[in-house]
Amino acid sequence: MTTRVALVTGGTGGIGTAIIKRLAQQGCKVATNYRDETKAKAWQEQLKSEGIEVYLAKGDVSDPAQCETMIRDIESNVGPIEILVNNAGITRDSTFHKMKTEQWKDVINTNLNSCFNVTRPVIEGMRERKWGRIIQIASINGQKGQYGQANYAAAKAGMHGFTISLAQENAKFGITVNTVSPGYIGTDMVMAVPEDVRNKIIQQIPTGRLGMPDEIAYAVSFFIPDQAAWITGTNLSANGGQYMGW
Ligand code: NDP
Repeated sequence: MTTRVALVTGGTGGIGTAIIKRLAQQGCKVATNYRDETKAKAWQEQLKSEGIEVYLAKGDVSDPAQCETMIRDIESNVGPIEILVNNAGITRDSTFHKMKTEQWKDVINTNLNSCFNVTRPVIEGMRERKWGRIIQIASINGQKGQYGQANYAAAKAGMHGFTISLAQENAKFGITVNTVSPGYIGTDMVMAVPEDVRNKIIQQIPTGRLGMPDEIAYAVSFFIPDQAAWITGTNLSANGGQYMGW
């Protein structure tokens, strides 16, 4: 792969770390955002000890002003962003009839509004340079819905609506826009689910196990080479066969 500059939001998390490692190993210069500097620096040192350099830029993806500053920081210190992976995300689960306004807003702001906040300052440069890759990390639960996750499922389904519109607007500019929809992956987000619930989830997965973060990183990397230029506006399910719809 040509050396490209990649921003992976939420890079310090389970799936983000795997995406960063894979892109770095494929020759990209990689950057991510952080909120907690001490935690992020420790993570950066760990990756450095594995031979992977990551540029850290401060930024909360739910805050448009912080995202603009973060993008300027990365572009002036690493280079124009050519690959953007909108990966940062949270859950704030509750059945809808008990859901608090803050639970709804936090999830929509972090998972969906972040796609606007981070992509908007990046897209014009990609259009001028006539090359770009934008990948949203959505979720199986945005495809099939999930009890207790109306906020999360709405945000994740919305990410794919964002993908297919952006794909149409930017196809002529050499920019592809795609979604990866992971099933249940064994990261902190899923290990925080009570064990009995997790075991019931695993029983519903035809492969009989949780996914691994690198299996999502591999799906992301599929969209990046020049040979993938014809693939835009798609949703790639990576879920062990748990859901086989769109
Ligand atoms: P983690 O909780 O391990 O990581 C989430 C990352 O997002 C962290 O780096 C976190 O940073 C960052 N983040 C959260 N909120 C913000 C914010 N407001 N601003 C900036 N960064 C933020 O989650 P996963 O790695 O498991 O998930 C990654 C993505 O994959 C998410 O979008 C998730 O919804 C999706 N996904 C995950 C699945 C799974 O099974 N794990 C299944 C399907 C989809 P910080 O350390 O500062 O909190």
